[in-house]
Amino acid sequence: MSTRIVRIEEKILKKNEVSAFENRELFKKNKVLAVNLLSSPGAGKTTLLVRTAELLKNRINLAVSVGDLQTEADAERIAGAGVPVVQINTGTACHLDANMVQKSLSHIPLESTDILFIENVGNLVCPASFGLGEHLRVVILSATEGEEKPLKYPPIFQTAHCVCINKTDLLPYIDFDINKCRENLARICPNAEVIEFSCRTGEGLERWFDWLIDRWKIVYGE
Ligand code: MG
Ligand code: ZN
Repeated sequence: MSTRIVRIEEKILKKNEVSAFENRELFKKNKVLAVNLLSSPGAGKTTLLVRTAELLKNRINLAVSVGDLQTEADAERIAGAGVPVVQINTGTACHLDANMVQKSLSHIPLESTDILFIENVGNLVCPASFGLGEHLRVVILSATEGEEKPLKYPPIFQTAHCVCINKTDLLPYIDFDINKCRENLARICPNAEVIEFSCRTGEGLERWFDWLIDRWKIVYGE
């Protein structure tokens, strides 16, 4: 890699850091806990947000910024659950950056939001390098992806505060070794909370809700 390319990358990341800092200030001012939700495509980010909105919206105020290359399909699904949502279309970009998120924030009622979820583009690689000003990073790993994912994509797991193992209802039918997966996570991200659930059946989701609400209380107190 040439020096010039390295410099351009540094510049992009530096610019991102500035926007991320501004986002963070905006979150603080409005007492918003921001959660960056990451996974590979199809692991269940949108489904988790729909379930979370349905079951948690009467206990705490939620909002969502959702990133995809194209379409508003995910925003429409989440809006159906009755929370404010903005779709960010990234065009060709395979991750959200802090500036894209900043533009979406003007469409979110921040002053009446307690938790903002930022659903990142489905990708386990470069979203790890782009901070969005979030307080928490949550990575979803679906049981259908295999237990070796944390070993193959360590950076994104190493920055996670919480790793969710989704689709546990499929465990009797697939070769996914959940104990091995827990061991791999303990090796790669020993400090991350690990929460197992099935968005389809709802089993295990209560722990996810409790964890989220506790995090909000830790940051903003009551
Ligand atoms: Mg989605
Ligand atoms: Zn990318």
